[in-house]
Amino acid sequence: MPHRIPTRRRPRPHDPRPSTHHRCYTRAWEKASRAYRRAHPLCAECARQGISTAAALVDHIIPHKGDPVLFWDQDNWQSLCINCHNAKTARENHPPPPPAPPDQAPTP
Ligand SMILES: [Zn+2]
Repeated sequence: MPHRIPTRRRPRPHDPRPSTHHRCYTRAWEKASRAYRRAHPLCAECARQGISTAAALVDHIIPHKGDPVLFWDQDNWQSLCINCHNAKTARENHPPPPPAPPDQAPTP
């Protein structure tokens, strides 16, 4: 009798579970982020520019992308206001294009 080669299960096309990213945002996160904001009530990004703005959320400095270690590492957290968080997210999703290499720089 021939052995059947084990095949990987095909992923279900419509997996009803939320993504790893969204699964991290649990009640535990809500509680932890609220406590963090209580300790760090001002937007860290605005503070760097000398502006005092109330923080609205806790941001991951390095995007965790579902990594629980990065997610729960408080050294990777910062309080941000909505404007700064939106700007940071936009930069992460649309980074500026890298500069052209010197030998392909446009000539005048
Ligand atoms: Zn801000």
